[in-house]
Parts: sequence; structure tokens; C-alpha cells
Amino acid sequence: MKKFKCPYCNENTVSRFRKAFAGSLKSKGYKCPNCGGRCVNGRESTVFHAILSLTIFIAIIIKSYKDPNNLITFSLVLFGLYFIISRVFDAFFFELEKTWRIDVNRK
Ligand SMILES: [Zn+2]
Repeated sequence: MKKFKCPYCNENTVSRFRKAFAGSLKSKGYKCPNCGGRCVNGRESTVFHAILSLTIFIAIIIKSYKDPNNLITFSLVLFGLYFIISRVFDAFFFELEKTWRIDVNRK
């Protein structure tokens, strides 16, 4: 299975699965087992998440105007989809970057 390059030590240490849950630039990310650096998904991933959540927000508003029945179920399904889609995209696209957080060890 393909591993992703750690932005700190340039070793291929981060698996697809770990990358999917590494979070965005402002999260603590995944700790590289080789050097201990915190890897997160980069800028493109953060932009993608923002667009995706905005799309879902708009879809919920449109739904509430057109057909307010089952709005809560509809919203929960969309948020579930959002979670799955964003994890899948993080797993398959985007580069890893160093975390922007300064309260964790950045190295
Ligand atoms: Zn590393």
C-alpha cells in the first residue's frame, strides 16, 4: 500500500488511512513514527472542506424552504455524507503539510 511522504523527514511513513484522519491545517494531525513531526492535510484539503460544508449548508437551507418535512434527518444524512466524503478525499488527494498549530511539537 502506498505511503505518503512526511513533510518533516521526507520518509514515506504515513499510510492512506492515517492520512484520512490526520485532519486539516489547524488540527494536531498524525504523529510521524519516524521523526515525531505532526502531519496534516494541506491547504487544498482545507479549501475543499470549506466548499463542501458550504454546499451542504446551502442544500439544507433550500430543503427547509421547499420541503421542511424530515429536515433533521436530511441534515444528519448530509453531515454523515460530508464526513465520509471529506475523509475519502483526504485519503486519496491533497498533499501532507506541517501543522500550523504552535501548541504542539512542530519540530
Ligand atoms: Zn517524519
